[in-house]
Amino acid sequence: MIRLHVTPDLAPNAAVAPTLDQSRYLTQVMRLKLGDALLVFNGRDGEWRCVIAEILKKGVILRVEDQVRPQAFGPDLDLIVAVVKKSRVETIVEKAAELGAKRVRLTVTQRTNVEHVRLDRLDAIAIEAAEQTGRLDVPTIDDPQRLATLLDDWDPARRLMFCDETGGAPVASAVTQPGPWAILIGPEGGFAPEERERLRGLPFTTAVSLGPRILRADTAAIAAMTLWQAAVGDWER
Ligand code: SAH
Repeated sequence: MIRLHVTPDLAPNAAVAPTLDQSRYLTQVMRLKLGDALLVFNGRDGEWRCVIAEILKKGVILRVEDQVRPQAFGPDLDLIVAVVKKSRVETIVEKAAELGAKRVRLTVTQRTNVEHVRLDRLDAIAIEAAEQTGRLDVPTIDDPQRLATLLDDWDPARRLMFCDETGGAPVASAVTQPGPWAILIGPEGGFAPEERERLRGLPFTTAVSLGPRILRADTAAIAAMTLWQAAVGDWER
């Protein structure tokens, strides 16, 4: 069944207006008619069955019927990625949503040479991916922040899986502790020696290797999230 992410609160009999684009998708692309059912979620109230109650020029109105699943969240995993070129960042955001990351934090490192991102576009990609996967929340995407600032403000309860292209421990043996984690992926130019030194010296960091080949940032992000999920994530369920 069609799944849509909406922003309003969801409760029995609530009337919900999706965006104009979503309305067009429902009536023009999927050809839904009055009374047809779909699923909606907002990241707070679980998943609900809705029906199309009105079709207006300005969009459709949905009537919320009953809850299908209560709200649930995936594992507490942040993905921190250096800003790389647009198409790769877009892939990374989509795959982070599919692979169950809770938050994507963009970062600017010494060798990052792209600084501009369109957060609205990245949010839309995260929402579409979340709709498709069946997850009940949407990963948040943070504005780019300097790596040094991000590390200065680090919450030490969160462990950092630092993907170091110069080598590190295998993920399966180094990542065994449950709890909040973040994965860090560098830019195409890799990390500068001072950055690597600082990262390796932090008490919450575990430096890991993703094998003997150098991966592109998008591939590295996907591989790292996969290994993390298999080690301490929710793939056992
Ligand atoms: N230009 C760099 C590679 C950067 S790849 C070089 O030639 O050395 C981009 C990022 O992906 C890296 O900073 C790292 O975080 C991750 N990555 C790529 N391959 C990796 C590997 N084999 N092990 C660990 N991390 C890797």
